[in-house]
Amino acid sequence: MKKAYRHIFFDLDRTLWDFDKNSGESLAEIFDHFNLKSLGVENCDVFRTKYIEINDQKWDAYRRGRLRKKELRIQRFTEVLAHFGCHDLALGSRIDRFYVSVSPHKTALFPGTLETLDYLSSKYKMHIITNGFEEVQHIKLSKSGLTQFFDVVMTSERAMARKPDPAVFKLALAEAKASAANSVMVGDDLGTDISGARGIWMDQVYFNPHKARHNDDVTYEIERIADLKTIL
Ligand SMILES: [Mg+2]
Repeated sequence: MKKAYRHIFFDLDRTLWDFDKNSGESLAEIFDHFNLKSLGVENCDVFRTKYIEINDQKWDAYRRGRLRKKELRIQRFTEVLAHFGCHDLALGSRIDRFYVSVSPHKTALFPGTLETLDYLSSKYKMHIITNGFEEVQHIKLSKSGLTQFFDVVMTSERAMARKPDPAVFKLALAEAKASAANSVMVGDDLGTDISGARGIWMDQVYFNPHKARHNDDVTYEIERIADLKTIL
């Protein structure tokens, strides 16, 4: 029997907003705009691959509290350039500012996102819980036409806690005047969205578009965002 949910909490990056596609487009623009080929980067693919590797390492260090946001921002592109033999801290910082100013303005969403949210909006109150930075997440929502659907937008920066920390979920629930019992969390990350929701006894929908294998016990699992219409 379906549970009577009243609130749906969504993750943003890689759940609704197609982070990898949008980031890829931004990196391609950087490659051209800063003429990285002339600086020793053979092509955009190797640039993108190295950036993803280094950026993942930096985010991991940030999540563990070993790196501050400012350091992450200065280091990631500077180290990518250094890998290709270009040692230029100022350029690394300029590229980072370019990336942060361009990327959130990208508008690629997963297929069916707007239609599905439109359908769900007549039945549920909807909210966002995201681990992204306050300054960029609101631009993404607004530029991609998502703002209208959401009541509470809780960023980890505002909550001063990151998923799966229960604190960010509890603050979002309180602002939404919701409870874990009448809410469900939709997200693509087992370690943050799903385990965080489970930790406060909130049901979960695991968005798993690449059919990643796992042993987690999730309430629901979907491959397409449009599948939400059949389970909620
Ligand atoms: Mg995500």
